[in-house]
Amino acid sequence: MIRQFELVERVKQYDPTADEDMLNRAYVFSMKAHGKQLRASGDPYFSHPLEVAGILTQYRLDASTIATALLHDTVEDTLATLPEIESHFGREIARLVDGVTKLSRLELQSEQTTQAENFRKLLLAMSEDIRVLLVKLADRLHNMRTLAHITAPEKRRRIARETMEIYAPLAERIGMHAIKDELEDIAFAELQPDARDSILARLKFLRDQGGDLIGRITQELSRNLVDNGVDATVSGREKTPYSIWQKMQQKNITFEQLSDVMAFRVAVDSIGDCYRALGFIHGRYPVVPGRFKDYISTPKPNGYKSLHTGVIGPERQRIEIQIRTREMHEVAEFGVAAHWIYKQGAGWRDGRQYRWLRELLDILEHASGPEEFLEHTKLEMFQDQVFCFTPKGEIISMPRGATPVDFAYAVHSQVGDHCVGAKINGRMMPLRTALTNGDQVEIVTSKAQTPSPTWERFVVTGKARARIRRFVRMQQRAQYTDLGRSIVQKAFRQEDHDLTEKALEGVLSSFNAPTVDDLYAIVGEGLHTGREILNAVFPSERAKKPANVVSLAKARAAKPAERDMAVPIRGLIPGMAVHFAGCCHPLRGDRIVGIVTTGKGVTIHTIDCDTLEGFADMPERWLDIAWNPGAEDDGLHVGRISLVVANEPGSLGSLSTVIAKNLGNIANLKITTRSRDFFEMLIDVEVRDVKHLSNIIAALRATPAINSVERARG
Ligand code: MN
Repeated sequence: MIRQFELVERVKQYDPTADEDMLNRAYVFSMKAHGKQLRASGDPYFSHPLEVAGILTQYRLDASTIATALLHDTVEDTLATLPEIESHFGREIARLVDGVTKLSRLELQSEQTTQAENFRKLLLAMSEDIRVLLVKLADRLHNMRTLAHITAPEKRRRIARETMEIYAPLAERIGMHAIKDELEDIAFAELQPDARDSILARLKFLRDQGGDLIGRITQELSRNLVDNGVDATVSGREKTPYSIWQKMQQKNITFEQLSDVMAFRVAVDSIGDCYRALGFIHGRYPVVPGRFKDYISTPKPNGYKSLHTGVIGPERQRIEIQIRTREMHEVAEFGVAAHWIYKQGAGWRDGRQYRWLRELLDILEHASGPEEFLEHTKLEMFQDQVFCFTPKGEIISMPRGATPVDFAYAVHSQVGDHCVGAKINGRMMPLRTALTNGDQVEIVTSKAQTPSPTWERFVVTGKARARIRRFVRMQQRAQYTDLGRSIVQKAFRQEDHDLTEKALEGVLSSFNAPTVDDLYAIVGEGLHTGREILNAVFPSERAKKPANVVSLAKARAAKPAERDMAVPIRGLIPGMAVHFAGCCHPLRGDRIVGIVTTGKGVTIHTIDCDTLEGFADMPERWLDIAWNPGAEDDGLHVGRISLVVANEPGSLGSLSTVIAKNLGNIANLKITTRSRDFFEMLIDVEVRDVKHLSNIIAALRATPAINSVERARG
């Protein structure tokens, strides 16, 4: 375990201006927070964040990143809170720790996901600051180094698979090749131990046979290059078992057939020297066809630059050679982190290196030279996307601004068509809410629900929009068909003709209509009149004067009212289910509020309902709504009144007579208390609005057998 002073020393070595006091405080804070927690290895838990910080010092990362590494598990695994971290270490570190914590939570959620590519994009999109991702990778690296201590084999394999599918490719994408190689090798050992062992055994056999082959080839290459005037540092290594295994898989060959298991690196001072070294090597040794690649003139998307070639080398062995400048080598090894190394060379003065990834990308975009290593186009692309989870952990990727309705349609058209509400991270939210990265979305559906035209105003995906439009068109067509049918029926009736499908089928072609319903729709839409259809079926009718056909304009004019009737309440979320509360029985004319209820949509209460007190500290569930005064009467609502009635013959009779006289209809009656002298009872009455109910109450008060009448509240 690294000691406190060692860690601080390391940081001070490459950054003399680092805040030593802050690092010491982070060390102590984390150690105290983790307290007696233990790792699976039996080590104190604190050894883990400390090792993670140690890994990051190898990449010479700034003090904030090192402190973040020390603190990275405190919010998730201890009693420490983010506000506490902010008050002790400031906003920047709190933000970084928060970022790492969020990634760790995603990790938990993603156990079942098989969409590795989407998950990698999600991690990139969520790591708004690249340092968050660097801490996460170092965290994973240390967890992999200690993987063997986890006793459950299934868990070990899951972690190894996830590393192989998610974290190793991520490390590669941001150019951290050393971390990528180590992650892959440990995961490979867990997932394919036999394959790895046999490759290692074979490598050992070759070593035993050939002696120090790598050393001899390195020396000869180095000497020859220097003799030819190229100042080069040559290093050689065996390829990693996993990269050998991959090549065997890709080319479908056995280990014996795979000849180049050694790779050599030639590091020089300038790009000119790269090509001079290449010229010498190609002139001196037989070239293996098809192996030459020039990543200097065309760098890889992650910024990697090098010349690659394959030759039959000094010892008659097939070898791979990578030629690059020392600067390119740094970038190849350190990836994104090399950014800090170069910045550091230029001095640590302005703190510009600590910016959000977005800004880092801007700098990179406008800079030329060796710093242009980030896969910036791709990273930027992900910033326009949002990635959300289904309850089963599947990832759905959508354009930024997508809503639960888009999500529902992305899951399945049927889910979209029938969605009534959405739970985002377990809370009922409006369907128009913009989703954010990592949200878990559960769509509430109802068979009775159909797509609402209002959804079209807020959806952003093409699929959702197309489905909603299609449905609206279908619905419109159904309306046209119904309207057309009644127009045609009326036209026929007025002339005392029977309307038969058969008669209409005979004239379909003259109206260019494939079916009878299409013909009705054409009439409903106003393209032809009922009279025209009648004339086509009975040409002799043509002579008669046009009867009083249904005016289309009139039929159309009736429609807005119909539409208003459908929305008696303003301020509702389109598509959400609506209930009237059973406690206060709101009536048209009452002041009302909506309460959004998980899984149930909106419940409407009167503003003075006692039940509302229970929601006083949940303002996010309150919905400001009002009756739509422009809407037509939308039918009867149930009002509830409580009464005290004298227990005497005929009193119940007079009660029901009074209500009936006032056009109320008793829907339910319940006697709550029955004493010798009185009944106390609750009556539910169907009324038009609050005024109607008041009239009934007034009439009841005037009835002698009734002692008191109140509207029931809550
Ligand atoms: Mn950790």
